[in-house]
Amino acid sequence: MDYEQKRKDLVEKLKEKDILKSENIIRAMLKVPREKFIPEQARSSAYIDAPLSIGSDQTISAPHMNAMMCEVLELKEGDKILEVGTGSGYHASLCAEAVAPSGSENPGHIYTIERHKNLAESAKESIEEVGYSQYVTIIIGDGTLGYEEKAPYDKILVTAASPKRIPEPLKKQLKNGGIMCIPAGSKTFSQYLYKIVRKGNSFESEKITGVRFVPLYGKYGFQ
Ligand code: SAM
Repeated sequence: MDYEQKRKDLVEKLKEKDILKSENIIRAMLKVPREKFIPEQARSSAYIDAPLSIGSDQTISAPHMNAMMCEVLELKEGDKILEVGTGSGYHASLCAEAVAPSGSENPGHIYTIERHKNLAESAKESIEEVGYSQYVTIIIGDGTLGYEEKAPYDKILVTAASPKRIPEPLKKQLKNGGIMCIPAGSKTFSQYLYKIVRKGNSFESEKITGVRFVPLYGKYGFQ
């Protein structure tokens, strides 16, 4: 299987659709091998633009959604990012390549939280295998509480659907001028992706598109 060629073809399609635009995010999508984050029996589907099962009733998002969320976040070299929902570890690796390119004098870092221990452990192995472990810290726990120890964050990426009321700890842990990308709405349908920009104590929210994500469970999520 020529994964590299399939990856290039997918990136071209996402560029044509105007989903992928930024140089650093294009580089990340070209470089990070999605097949390494997918159970072996499903690897031949790695470059079909669709979500795939990763076990524990969870999914790795479709590549166009990864690309769109990275673009919404306006990722920059040096960004400190909080991700809620590590899942396979693929999106965290994309972010790592975008904010901590090799040779960077100002590499960013990703703190990523996963509530399923088994997923966190296999994500750790995959991230190590593809070479981003220096830039990604995995925390096992309830991501709706955020990760106060390293706050505030330049960017917050939430990869599970929040209730309409965005978790307060995540808002508090976003830097002034920072951007959060989060799907929110009902537990199983009618969800939208939002871009939230913090301006002091106010939060400007922009609806991006309709989406379908697994629920965000936890103290400030669904019960
Ligand atoms: N970003 C992932 C990737 O690249 O594979 C995909 C994430 S998957 C769509 C959503 C993940 O959010 C699942 O792994 C799920 O267990 C996790 N999740 C849901 N609620 C959570 C919470 N409160 N804290 C941490 N992780 C949570």
